[in-house]
Amino acid sequence: MGINIDGDNFLRSLDKAFGYINNSDKVYQVVTINPEMYAQAEIDSNFKKIIDEAEIVVPDGIGIKIALKLKGQNADRIPGIDYARRILEWCAKNNKPIAIVGSKEEVITKAVNNLKKEIEGLNIVYYHNGYFDNNDKIYEELKQANPRLVLVALGSPKQEYFIYNAKNILPPCLMIGIGGSLDVWSGEVKRAPQIYQKLGLEWLYRTVTQPERFKRIFPALPLFLWKVIKYKEDK
Ligand code: UDP
Repeated sequence: MGINIDGDNFLRSLDKAFGYINNSDKVYQVVTINPEMYAQAEIDSNFKKIIDEAEIVVPDGIGIKIALKLKGQNADRIPGIDYARRILEWCAKNNKPIAIVGSKEEVITKAVNNLKKEIEGLNIVYYHNGYFDNNDKIYEELKQANPRLVLVALGSPKQEYFIYNAKNILPPCLMIGIGGSLDVWSGEVKRAPQIYQKLGLEWLYRTVTQPERFKRIFPALPLFLWKVIKYKEDK
């Protein structure tokens, strides 16, 4: 359907990220794609270009996993929050400095404190809340801090644009758009129970517990699957 997704397994996708952090010669972008982002790419060609040029695109939503399955490809669903967490743990072990940008001030402060407590050796060299007007100031501060991993939680598509525009500015690093992950790490928002995660129903849990999401998620998921099925039939 015009978008390339790394239909890999979780561990291989992690290895790819570790490799980019180790040998980084430029800014690498990770997009964790879901059906809402696919819908956005359909109406916004600049956003589509960002996804096309991203070095890693992992299937975050269950909708994407089903789409790949319908095309005969078995891929692990890779929730961005788990992917980013594993990379944080790896950075702590391998002494790689990290930076985090996004979410409200109290949310990022709590998330940073919790992460430092939970992950031994984590070296957070810079963090900033996600409510700023001047991107250049944040890029400049990131440049000074010189992290190898930058997590960006501004919601989509804002975070993908922020990362893409950093590509020619920041020193080599891996940058990941992590959506609402800081809200979870801060303890402000509860993650869906394991059973929902296993059944691929995390979206249902989030829609029910955060009804404001319903408007966003509900049309995107069935519409996306309908398009996937239709696309298959047309071929
Ligand atoms: N956010 C931000 N700046 C903005 C808009 C959003 O920092 O200008 C933050 C917001 O506080 C939240 C995250 O971005 O922590 C967006 O989370 P959302 O749940 O919308 O992301 P999703 O996981 O659905 O992409």
